[in-house]
Amino acid sequence: MINILDLTLEELKNWMKLNGEKEFRAKQIIDWVYKETWEFEKMSNIPKATIDKIKQEFFIGIPEIIEMYKSEDGNTGKYLLKFNDGNIIETVLMKYSYGNSICVSTQVGCRMGCKFCASTLGGVVRNLTSGEIIGEILAVQKSINERISNVVLMGSGEPFDNFENVIKFLELVNCSYGLNIGQRHITVSTCGLVPKIKEFADKKLQVTLAISLHAPNDHMRKELMPIANKYSIQEIMDACKYYINATNKRITFEYALVSGANDNIECAKELAKLLKGMLCHVNLIPVNEIKENVFRKSTAKRIDEFNSILKSYGIESTVRKEMGADINAACGQLRRKYLDEKSGV
Ligand code: SAH
Repeated sequence: MINILDLTLEELKNWMKLNGEKEFRAKQIIDWVYKETWEFEKMSNIPKATIDKIKQEFFIGIPEIIEMYKSEDGNTGKYLLKFNDGNIIETVLMKYSYGNSICVSTQVGCRMGCKFCASTLGGVVRNLTSGEIIGEILAVQKSINERISNVVLMGSGEPFDNFENVIKFLELVNCSYGLNIGQRHITVSTCGLVPKIKEFADKKLQVTLAISLHAPNDHMRKELMPIANKYSIQEIMDACKYYINATNKRITFEYALVSGANDNIECAKELAKLLKGMLCHVNLIPVNEIKENVFRKSTAKRIDEFNSILKSYGIESTVRKEMGADINAACGQLRRKYLDEKSGV
């Protein structure tokens, strides 16, 4: 069975043609799906014979919301979603003054092994398809009855470890017949898979690329992120310059501040020197503390100092506002908690 959300309009039209149906049925069906009718029988302008044929081949892969937590201020919602094979993922909704933003997962689990991250604790289970990532958005959008206008690929998983599906997702989410979310409203975050950064640059999309850097040198980065053993910071910087040349887009560098690990003044200076002259922005994130590791967040004073040093070197930087800490909204935490509870840990 095929998840109908995995198909572009063109692909569904082709299927119609090959199966002796009228091509325009494809658009009608896709319109129903994006208007949140998720049972083929309820698509009232489609003949029953066509529906019967479609049902033999397709299903509408909207994940089931099994739990939903709202932060106290009401601005963050964390969703546990279940796909039809039983796999659980999490998705976070953030309400901003400029609109609703969703943080989607791209894999069930993750195999990158970053030391501070909860998503990677059980490794990767499987990739999500493009349609499943679309399904995350549709499920949440329906539950709030409001449009979602921004997407960040910063949930569980490494987007560039699931490259083809993520690229197709970016195409689908952008389509005028679908969710119609502009590329400039989308951010893809990677831990730094260098060849894929270049491949991504060659696609010349207008989405924002975020790089999880988290350290100013290889030695320190290796302590936090195993991927640093494969690609050096120099290689990442070269790939970033290639990306900037190809797209003319500013890169975001994410830097999670971990007390006593990567937050001293020397680190800030080293980071500033590394990024000097680059078209970029640094996002400082007080590390989200998880029970499975010893990493603790830097003090507010240290975060301010770090930020000021970057600015004094002319590097644009902001401290990410912490949202949803009261509902385990950090990457992978909620799924972890759910799995632990089920297995009685
Ligand atoms: N795999 C991708 C995207 C998913 S994680 C990546 O590595 O970029 C999204 C961001 O959250 C990354 O910058 C990641 O390093 C960061 N992150 C993960 N766990 C965190 C934690 N406990 N505290 C703060 N940031 C965290």
